[in-house]
Amino acid sequence: MSNYSDVKKKLDTVSSCFCLAKWTTVTLHLESGTNHSCHHPKVHDTPVEELVGNPAALHNTKFKIQQRKGMIEGNRPEECGYCWNVEDLKSESAISDRIIKSSAPYSMADYEKIKLNPYDNKLVPRYVEASFSNTCQFKCSYCSANFSSSWAEELEKHGQYHNRHGENYMKIYKEDENPYIKAFWEWWPDLKRDLDTFRITGGEPLLSPNTFKVLESLLVNPEPNLSLNINSNLGAPEVLVNKFINLIGQLSATKSVRELIIYTSIDAFGARAEYIRHGLKHDQFWNNVDRLLSADERTQVIIMCTFNALSITTYVELLQKICEVNEKHKNANRPVPLEIDIAYLRHPFHQTVNILTDDYIPQMESIVKFIEANQMHQSPKGVGFHNLHTIKATRILEWMKKGDSPASKRRNQADFYKFFTEHDRRRNKNFLETFPEMDKFWNYCKQMAETV
Ligand code: SF4
Ligand code: SF4
Repeated sequence: MSNYSDVKKKLDTVSSCFCLAKWTTVTLHLESGTNHSCHHPKVHDTPVEELVGNPAALHNTKFKIQQRKGMIEGNRPEECGYCWNVEDLKSESAISDRIIKSSAPYSMADYEKIKLNPYDNKLVPRYVEASFSNTCQFKCSYCSANFSSSWAEELEKHGQYHNRHGENYMKIYKEDENPYIKAFWEWWPDLKRDLDTFRITGGEPLLSPNTFKVLESLLVNPEPNLSLNINSNLGAPEVLVNKFINLIGQLSATKSVRELIIYTSIDAFGARAEYIRHGLKHDQFWNNVDRLLSADERTQVIIMCTFNALSITTYVELLQKICEVNEKHKNANRPVPLEIDIAYLRHPFHQTVNILTDDYIPQMESIVKFIEANQMHQSPKGVGFHNLHTIKATRILEWMKKGDSPASKRRNQADFYKFFTEHDRRRNKNFLETFPEMDKFWNYCKQMAETV
């Protein structure tokens, strides 16, 4: 079903809070024994005892079954605030992920089954993201020790940042002694048969042996209906990138899976992108994107952009680069070799677009205009953007316009200054040298830090 309003009507026949993603999708953080239904709600613990005799409890925890019950009864689960924020804008152009994610064909296909048996603790999801480890060589500014071992090492050396005290650090299991990974491999033969999509996340997945185990196992036991997706920051040592590209090529050539999609991330352009995602080497990144797209004619690369306050000044350049890459790699099997998903950062607050002063609103408007003016269906070269890009960029613009309470905005601007001052000291960086165009904003935040 392509029409979002039709999907909404269908969901509303159960309740105005009903979201199929709560049943059909899951992100498993196996390294910490936690999970969430999609990536928006905070993670919750997966009790080891619930896994005994039922590895499907990696997804169907007692906690999640309670959240599902709430949805069916018409109560908004608090953990789904990302969607309620968007829905409360009451704007027709702001469509929540509850509707977008429920519209996925594999979710709609399970609509009747879920209505019939909504509290089944053996339910097999259709879309699974799994991370095996938090090992990562990057320290992206908005990431944390729970997801990046390099962040954890920095905190161990320098202590916590002033405004991130009280963050909840999860126990991280060693990869070879992890009961959740053990349960995952027990569940895998049953799980993979019904899966539409399996996506490996991290940490940096190319640094985990379990990632290569999945790829090798699918070469031996193919799943031709499976969409295999792998996240990578594309900054791993060359030997691992080579091994990865080789396996991807073999899986593609033998048609062992239905499709192969590599997800990667970048949120701005050039040195500014390197500043946001510490560890990223801009040229190496684009070279690896090029190598992946050149390796075979089917693999697609998708950029997951976390649009944040520092994305705004070079975002159009990033969009232009994407058009350039698509022009080079487009073919009949692969009309959009390089896609971008424009999500917006919500945490930590001091890096969201909501801390920006009102003079950045025209800049965001020009990003929306650029996307509107470069729609793929109007492009003579067949490259560009589509309606969902416009919807997601407009959503960010509307969120910026809605703003924050003045007191909270001032506090977050002060935190922005304090965080990046300390960040620059620890990482030998210089905000103003990297973002000279933001000097007025930087000085304004400095003032906030001195007065708040
Ligand atoms: S309502 Fe939104 S946040 Fe909650 S599971 Fe659905 S898509 Fe995710
Ligand atoms: S690459 Fe991913 S896991 Fe690593 S620091 Fe960046 S966001 Fe975190």
